[in-house]
Amino acid sequence: MSIAAPTELRMLIGGEWVESSSGQWTDVRSPATGQVVGRVPRGTAADVDRAVAAAREAFDDQRWRGQWLPMRCAVLERLASLIERDLDEIVALEVAQTGTAIKFRSANDIPFVPDNLRQMAASARHLDGKAAAEYSTDHTSMIRREPIGVAGQVAPWNYPFMMAVWKIGPALAAGNSVVLKPASTTPLTTLKLGALAVEAGLPPGVLNIVTGTGDEVGAAIAGHMDIDIVSLTGDSATGVKIQQLAANNLKRVHLELGGKAPFVVFADADLEAAARGAVAGGFINAGQDCTAATRIYVQRPAYETFLGLLKGFTEEIRIGDPADPSTDLGTLISGTQVARVQGFVERAVAAGARLVTGGARAQVPGLPDGAFFQPTVLADMTQDSECVQQEIFGPVLTVLPFDTEDEAIKLANDTRYGLAGSVWTKDIQVGMRAAKALDFGTVWINDHLPLSSDTPHGGFKQSGFGKDLSGYSFDEYTRIKHVMVELTGATRKGWHHQIWGDAPEG
Ligand code: NAD
Repeated sequence: MSIAAPTELRMLIGGEWVESSSGQWTDVRSPATGQVVGRVPRGTAADVDRAVAAAREAFDDQRWRGQWLPMRCAVLERLASLIERDLDEIVALEVAQTGTAIKFRSANDIPFVPDNLRQMAASARHLDGKAAAEYSTDHTSMIRREPIGVAGQVAPWNYPFMMAVWKIGPALAAGNSVVLKPASTTPLTTLKLGALAVEAGLPPGVLNIVTGTGDEVGAAIAGHMDIDIVSLTGDSATGVKIQQLAANNLKRVHLELGGKAPFVVFADADLEAAARGAVAGGFINAGQDCTAATRIYVQRPAYETFLGLLKGFTEEIRIGDPADPSTDLGTLISGTQVARVQGFVERAVAAGARLVTGGARAQVPGLPDGAFFQPTVLADMTQDSECVQQEIFGPVLTVLPFDTEDEAIKLANDTRYGLAGSVWTKDIQVGMRAAKALDFGTVWINDHLPLSSDTPHGGFKQSGFGKDLSGYSFDEYTRIKHVMVELTGATRKGWHHQIWGDAPEG
């Protein structure tokens, strides 16, 4: 894997590319080679203050939200086209900082992003709401949908570029100003996004990007008194901290958090399709996906057959150099994450789980320090074991049997998470009953993972609240204002009798 000399990138504040007030820099390393692939400023709370001030000024003087709507949409559409122009560069940068296979990045999330942005531009042009009408005698009412103000946004490392776009897309389309923080391990493509936004014609100060740690920059955003909405995609524990910090000025909170998706296979399902679906849906992005199929429940008559299929398809996966187009699975985000995943697997096996396949670090020739882990299937553990209940965020599937439909739903819903799940059956009534009973923000029937720009994505329970993608996401970045116009022109209104008694005759 060849890596170009590390790029030194600056933060974007008020339309300027700036260093941090700390004067410190952070190295970004490839999880495959351990080499430094970029260097970014280590931002501070003071940098967040600067960015918020720039965002506030841009909001208040209306340089963005006050623009003619077609012009604003044209900027977002231009940004989508610039992303398409530089797709290969963005993919290479993403592979370098995340270690994910290039095949995946170039076919999955990065090419999806331009359509996400175009959808947001379309949402801005198709506001929906109640019609203006006379809801009260003597008045006409209008419902206005307005931008909220300054949006503080905190993104994760698993899909750094796409998550950044899912954050800024709806916020900008609705006319807000943004202060965005990428994950500290994966800031490079977000800064590239900032450069493209400038090139697309976004006015200075409307999008600000501050790099740095969650504890410092993320917390400063969440607790900032001049931010009006904070949005996080990240771990549920981080969501709790952000919500607490956000309470100081009662800012709005939008949380896209962890997941532990159930994958329920009834005995009548197309078992090969389901097993392929579990492998593709479970090991996507090396399992570092909040919607990944992690908890597989299989109806008992099909259990052993299904495990055999799962083992076969899993063992076909080629782990290798992320930059090699024939590689199916690259690294995890870091060696620390590999050790964490390994700990889950070892403790599960020690507690009696059956190791169907995988279970150890993987060695890739030429990349001795790479954070590789074998795709792993564990079976026969208990429902309350930590590997069934906690988000591992690595390539590990757990498989358990069930007997009845009721039991399957109970097991699937027995989690603190509620992001996504799927059910596999040829019986439409079983599928639809399960879709209704499953307590998750997205339920697939006979598939697992596909998203579209036009459909909402977001969780229930401790997976958070608020939606990404679709018009629902756009709505999250707007506030509703009621404007009421008095129609009679009378000095003394009909309802004034509540203060002064009846109006004098004539
Ligand atoms: P994380 O919570 O560790 O970090 C997410 C972001 O929060 C980072 O930018 C981080 O720097 C920041 N952060 C960390 N501590 C903070 C604090 N105290 N205050 C403010 N900000 C803080 O999550 P991660 O490890 O980067 O990402 C993986 C997690 O994200 C998983 O739990 C995954 O399920 C979740 N995720 C959810 C979705 C979704 O749509 N629901 C999508 C992708 C990832």
